Amino acid sequence: MSNSPKIIIIGGGAAGFFAAITCARTHLHSQVTLLESTAIVLAKVRISGGGRCNVTHHCFEPAQLVTNYPRGGRELRGAFARFQPKDLIEWFESQGVALKKETDGRVFPMTDTSETIITSLLKTAKKANININIHSEVINIIKKENLFRVKLKTGKILEANRILIATGSNTTGYQLAKSLGHKITPLIPSLFTFKIKDSRLQGLEGISVAKVGLRLVGVDKKQQYQQSGSLLITHWGISGFGVLKLSAFGAKILHKKEYNMSLVINFLFPDNLEEVKQKLLNFKAQNLKLNKLISSFSPFNLPRRLWQKLLAHVNVEQKKTWKELSQKEIIKLAQELVQGQYKISGRGVFKEEFVTCGGVNLKEINFKTMESKICPDLYFAGEVLDVDGVTGGFNLQSAWTTGWLAGRAMGNKQ
Ligand SMILES: Cc1cc2nc3c(=O)[nH]c(=O)nc-3n(C[C@H](O)[C@H](O)[C@H](O)COP(=O)(O)OP(=O)(O)OC[C@H]3O[C@@H](n4cnc5c(N)ncnc54)[C@H](O)[C@@H]3O)c2cc1C
Repeated sequence: MSNSPKIIIIGGGAAGFFAAITCARTHLHSQVTLLESTAIVLAKVRISGGGRCNVTHHCFEPAQLVTNYPRGGRELRGAFARFQPKDLIEWFESQGVALKKETDGRVFPMTDTSETIITSLLKTAKKANININIHSEVINIIKKENLFRVKLKTGKILEANRILIATGSNTTGYQLAKSLGHKITPLIPSLFTFKIKDSRLQGLEGISVAKVGLRLVGVDKKQQYQQSGSLLITHWGISGFGVLKLSAFGAKILHKKEYNMSLVINFLFPDNLEEVKQKLLNFKAQNLKLNKLISSFSPFNLPRRLWQKLLAHVNVEQKKTWKELSQKEIIKLAQELVQGQYKISGRGVFKEEFVTCGGVNLKEINFKTMESKICPDLYFAGEVLDVDGVTGGFNLQSAWTTGWLAGRAMGNKQ
């Protein structure tokens, strides 16, 4: 038995599959069984990235990579030194899956369909002789001496020397972890859009700004509550990369305040109030002799309709010319452009990606092996851990990396 360890992987998602494949391929003597509660494995991979599967991010520097994880970045630093996006890209390429990088750094299969990733994982798992059991929900685990007894909802009991919990954000997974002595940090949503009802945004649905600064008001000036990135005006409020990033880094405080907080938008980020004021003054000086309408000419690269909305909000008439613009109006306009406050009144969905903040307490895990420090021979990988990243392929990467580390380690021990 000790030469041929029985390994049970609970959860047929990205983390579970990668762990199972890694374990079976590096430790040929191990018997790997993967248990999936539903009828379909890799369901989240299928819908990820809008069905295109944003497998990872083109960032090969671990120190830089971890800045994209509001939770778990510190622990992942060493993990990424062992298995990072570059390794993942090479891994898929060695399986005949070509990947491509988009301009924003997101990496997708060349085919633009998650089916390619799923087919590759299934094929590799089959070749590695992994025993995949669907309709196999684990409801209870008991450890006696060095053996785990894994009970399925069907009543069946399986035995294993080592087990991996890779159940994603599913509640039963957290219950299993708790029953084996682990603490679960509170579970709350991450990666969401903001509901904002504001006349300044009305009628502008679909308009985007490439880079804005966003800051939550009424909290200490922690870096995490100030983010920058693209902004998209939607029917219900705002979305875009900058907004999603702030939702992830501010997930806890936003949840605590029941998604009712004020937000400052700097439409001209990284310029500050003084710089914008100066640009407005300079533009006025350059146009003193011309009868240019303020509403038609702006010194900034902002969508015209947004510019006009903001002018209306500070009561600058559409017919006014630049030479008629007063000093007082310039100050008000500059403030509106870089310090305008908006009231967040709720959380909206982001259909392309969603992740849970919270999970198995990271202090209880050895991130070299993903083994529990509380219950020997128990391992964790993927979203069940208190790790989450911003949108862009970072969440799947943490699932691949932690799955890979666990897979290597689980077959190793005798
Ligand atoms: C709509 C959407 C789009 C996304 N797009 C992206 C993207 O493009 N890029 C990115 O990086 N991230 C994306 N994510 C996040 C990413 O998909 C997840 O972080 C990642 O899939 C987590 O993998 P996992 O293996 O830990 O968990 P999961 O994929 O959730 O897998 C866990 C599996 O365990 C099974 N299970 C649960 N409990 C039990 C049990 N008791 N017994 C047996 N089986 C059990 C579940 O049925 C499930 O199949 C997206 C998420 C969503 C919801």
